Amino acid sequence: MSLALGSLFTFDNSYLRDLGELCVPWDAAPAPEPALVALNEELAAELGADAEALRTPEGVAVLAGNAKPEGAASVAMAYAGHQFGGYVPRLGDGRALLLGEVLDTRGQRRDLHLKGSGRTPFARGGDGKAPLGPMLREYVIGEAMHALGIPTTRALAVVGTGEQVARDRMEPGAVLTRVAASHIRVGTFQFAAATRDTGLLRRLADHAIARHHPAAAEADNPYLTLYTSVVEAQAELIARWMLVGFVHGVMNTDNMTISGETIDYGPCAFMDAYDPATVFSSIDHGGRYAYGNQPGVAQWNLARFAEALLPLLGEDSDAAITVATEVLLSFADRYDRHWRAGMHAKLGLADAPEDTSLVDDLLTLLQERKADFTSFFRVLSRAAAGDPEPARALVGEGFDAWSERWRAALPARAGTEVATAMDRVNPVYVPRNHLVDEALTAAVAGDRAPLDRLLAVLARPFEERPGLEAYALPAPPSFGSFRTFCGT
Ligand code: AMP
Ligand code: MG
Repeated sequence: MSLALGSLFTFDNSYLRDLGELCVPWDAAPAPEPALVALNEELAAELGADAEALRTPEGVAVLAGNAKPEGAASVAMAYAGHQFGGYVPRLGDGRALLLGEVLDTRGQRRDLHLKGSGRTPFARGGDGKAPLGPMLREYVIGEAMHALGIPTTRALAVVGTGEQVARDRMEPGAVLTRVAASHIRVGTFQFAAATRDTGLLRRLADHAIARHHPAAAEADNPYLTLYTSVVEAQAELIARWMLVGFVHGVMNTDNMTISGETIDYGPCAFMDAYDPATVFSSIDHGGRYAYGNQPGVAQWNLARFAEALLPLLGEDSDAAITVATEVLLSFADRYDRHWRAGMHAKLGLADAPEDTSLVDDLLTLLQERKADFTSFFRVLSRAAAGDPEPARALVGEGFDAWSERWRAALPARAGTEVATAMDRVNPVYVPRNHLVDEALTAAVAGDRAPLDRLLAVLARPFEERPGLEAYALPAPPSFGSFRTFCGT
């Protein structure tokens, strides 16, 4: 069924036009009884879509994959990827489709993508489906990241399909509509490079430059500049994750974007007690994607990206390797610069101190005392404003000696002004695992109220509001140690 929902979206499908070899035209599997569970009205408005129209049966049919709006040209995208370090030459959208691209109200090109929309030629052994809980999880965490100011794909809607999907047990199925700057991944480049068709690889790179890093087109070496731009974007992104305690959980090269947006919220979570070894994913036995490993893993992934780009980087491969290596090695400094600047802002410091031990010693203290990462920085602003008790309560005696050094590094006449600046960068509300769990369990059972409340809290993460104290607290001990599952 093709609907004339012209008022919903105006499509312009550049990826299919430029890179047809990297797509398989494909339709979604029908959802027997589509029902809207969540709609992101703010994002709909940004896309120039009428939220009321999206709520109608015709709108919901589009969001479920049951109807293709005029101008959409749904395709499954091909990509490869390193999963936990092992190369898989053919991954691709196994249970997802790119519905098409729209230009939003600011003229930005955005992908509309359906996840959980049925098997595709890339499905391998999978069922092509997605359970409701994990799709709502992607919605919640993506919105939380967006509100924290961290580049991310976002959810436009989650629609229940009316079907049961088999995981550990039977669960209600759902389709997520995801909005992204694009779905071009490091794995997309790996797939294109593996075809050994340099013309195709160049077209992919040109497309990515035009879309995400247009300044590279003017550079002497556009492809090396593309590479540098992605290294810089990822260095900044990972630093932003680290500064809020976000653990992605499955940083495979197919889950790393060229745009610099966070993508694919599977077994991700926010760290509570500070510990670089924090892992939440039930399948990450070796801790490859632990909190503290994320910068190193990002650089490893960027090395795989360089390998894919090599044919475009120089006439001979030795020269290409030399220039790519130099950029790759700049990752550590780039990351460090973003992370240090972010840490200084978190601590209310105007100038970066020469001596890096102030930050390093604090992290040691937090780790020794298993202090809650989010809470500590938030109460530290109270110390800046004159009340050190809450911070001392979190890290104990060691706080005083550290605090003396910190206060000496603060701008002269520090007080409420510094505290206010700190509160602007240190969130009071993050999607804590127990809260997300509770909201999703209720929503899957049919009670949307806790989810709606949680989304409203997370939409303004820096603004402490009366009555929301419970949302700022770590999990009660009864919650135990949290695990998330990749079986999404
Ligand atoms: P992810 O772990 O979600 O990043 O997915 C890794 C790969 O597995 C991608 O190629 C997905 O399309 C594919 N995949 C994940 N779950 C399913 C599923 N239920 N059915 C088909 N393919 C899937
Ligand atoms: Mg993925």
